[in-house]
Amino acid sequence: MTDYLARLNSEQRDAVQTLDGPLLVLAGAGTGKTRVLTTRFAHILLSGRASPGQVLAVTFTNKAAREMRERVSAILGRPVEGLWLGTFHALCARMLRRHAGLAGLSANFTILDSDDQLRLLRQIMDAERLDTKRWAPPALMAVIQRWKDRGLTPGRITASDDTDFAAGRARVLYAAYQERLRALNAADFGDLLLHMTDILRSHNDVLAQYHRMFRYVLVDEYQDTNLVQYLWLRLLAQGHRNICCVGDDDQSIYSWRGAEVENILRFEKDFEGAKIIRLEANYRSTAPILAAASGLIAHNESRLGKTLRPGRDDAQTGEAVTVVGLWDSDEEARMVGERVEALRRDGHPLGEMAILVRAGFQTRAFEERLILIGVPYRVIGGLRFYERQEIRDAVAYMRATLQPADDLAFERIVNVPRRGVGEAALRALHETARAEGLPLAAAAQNLIDAGGLRGRVKESMGELLRGFARWREMADRDGHVVATATMLDESGYMEMWKQDKSPEAPGRLDNLKELVRALSEFETLAGFLDHVSLVMENDEDAAGDRVSLMTLHAAKGLEFDTVFLPGWEEGVFPNQRALDEGGVKSLEEERRLAYVGLTRARRRAIVSHAANRRIYANWQTSIPSRFIDELPSEHVTQEGSAALARDARIATATSFPSQFPLVARRVRTVEVWEQPVRPARSEAIPVGARVFHQKFGYGTVRAAEDDRLDIAFDKAGEKRVLDRFVERA
Ligand code: ATP
Ligand code: MG
Repeated sequence: MTDYLARLNSEQRDAVQTLDGPLLVLAGAGTGKTRVLTTRFAHILLSGRASPGQVLAVTFTNKAAREMRERVSAILGRPVEGLWLGTFHALCARMLRRHAGLAGLSANFTILDSDDQLRLLRQIMDAERLDTKRWAPPALMAVIQRWKDRGLTPGRITASDDTDFAAGRARVLYAAYQERLRALNAADFGDLLLHMTDILRSHNDVLAQYHRMFRYVLVDEYQDTNLVQYLWLRLLAQGHRNICCVGDDDQSIYSWRGAEVENILRFEKDFEGAKIIRLEANYRSTAPILAAASGLIAHNESRLGKTLRPGRDDAQTGEAVTVVGLWDSDEEARMVGERVEALRRDGHPLGEMAILVRAGFQTRAFEERLILIGVPYRVIGGLRFYERQEIRDAVAYMRATLQPADDLAFERIVNVPRRGVGEAALRALHETARAEGLPLAAAAQNLIDAGGLRGRVKESMGELLRGFARWREMADRDGHVVATATMLDESGYMEMWKQDKSPEAPGRLDNLKELVRALSEFETLAGFLDHVSLVMENDEDAAGDRVSLMTLHAAKGLEFDTVFLPGWEEGVFPNQRALDEGGVKSLEEERRLAYVGLTRARRRAIVSHAANRRIYANWQTSIPSRFIDELPSEHVTQEGSAALARDARIATATSFPSQFPLVARRVRTVEVWEQPVRPARSEAIPVGARVFHQKFGYGTVRAAEDDRLDIAFDKAGEKRVLDRFVERA
């Protein structure tokens, strides 16, 4: 047997050697699905069944594509050229360039980013005289994107696909948008797949050409394909029918982006005679990690069900999953930092450690801790906290407020949100500034005074300048936290993102709140701004040994010796917004995310939760995530002082408000300090009781466990809360 086949178990080998006909490898995390796909690729080439250009291989990220290319080359013992290997988007872009004419484009079409897309949609809505205050362009963008995910061109949309956006006019707007894109010789991301699928559907000669070309089709992370990707695959695979998809329904985590796990179930139907291979040995994680992950995912009802057994030689010697309860979020960051340092001292490379969070804003606390203790890190699949657009904007506001001569900051935000400051106004500003030797802000004031600006620009610019003065004064009087929160509010910056209906907007708002939280750790705004500059400086070359920080979504397919999973608290994870929007279905997707997180770990998984989190300048109590309760206790070691923290909180809760005055109350956007309404351990509230909660209002108790209640609130939906925060109604 050749070397590369000998490195597989018999089921894996079967999956590599079953080359004819459709094949689905359905298997749990870490069972070697990706390894099978890579080996299969090499095997096809080495056995002479196809040349590199005759295999179509789809991966979920560009990074995964690079890795696959390297591994195939390693098995072959030489670099391979001319592969059709990449993400759906990359592969479709390449194809579409060859057939652009059939989509009404020319081969050099531009691919628009989401900013361009929005600008275009706004123009179209304006032209149709739609009220873009009432019907937000990002919302339309999302509707169109969902249609594209489902392979629906404007002509294919039926009444049942229609939405009530803009009183049913979305379809017309969509058609106009597609027209406009064509006229501009441009395509958005969704178009790459949509156009290609459409071309393959309606041009038999093109389809036949690809059928001749691609003898084999390979697909990784199949559970996260959406409908249009599926259609595209099915069309291309119909020729030779040699399609091999690998996936795990328990790791389907992109339904919010249109992924349909049903594509797995459909596979057998669409590809008659498909062979299904299951892999059951997990080679990644130690036995306790695997058992903990399996115990957790068993709580999901809608799943195909799989067996997973430890396959590592040393699997049985592993440590249990550690669950650490901490007093507050600062302590949590410190704990993670200390463990990273300890492991490093023991000779563990940083590259083998990862911190996986539910939401992007959570990276900040860990980034700052790592910078403080001098541990290099990288953020995978996203930007470092202070590099994010909304954070840079907010920091620019702070700089412009504090330093009236900071022209760079002023220019960055003068028209964000839109204040009608166009190029002409900017040019006038610059000219005045240069002529009078003044900073831009001062020049703006002079221009206004001299009547050089008119109408809306004059109004909004004047308002902004008065704002700067007011916020500056406020920082001196009320403190920089209040001043900044007020500034983000009054400048309309927060509002801009609230109105933005794109999928990224909620994350940006969370980042902004996190920024204000960060501010409260500094005495002055100037101190904070210095800190930000230092943090931004701290960027040695990207190579080298570093800890990885990323969201759970970005961690799919990756593995590390040590994985930190912080923030396992109700509301954070499972994420409250997801629960509010999607109920049980979303809860199951959150649980799959937790499963993905745990199964990234080879040797060590450290889950943690904090009893207190700061929201703006206030503290909010949290209770441990239900996912922690769902981990089988025999595979978990509890550490830290979760229970202790809970009792201590009751004792000290009332002292927090004075320590952190209710400054943020004055700001419309902040959460209000919550205080327990009853002391701990008073009489229990029974299931079925009507209750009142300070923040969520009236509701009915659905379940009770220790001091936690699952309550169906009349207005706020299902929530899990601590019983001392509710009163019987
Ligand atoms: P995920 O579901 O997370 O994407 P996967 O099923 O794709 O996981 P791989 O990443 O391919 O799993 O493999 C997990 C780990 O197990 C890798 O380190 C891989 O090299 C190793 N591995 C896979 N098969 C074997 C095997 N037969 N013997 C030893 N190690 C293996
Ligand atoms: Mg994989």
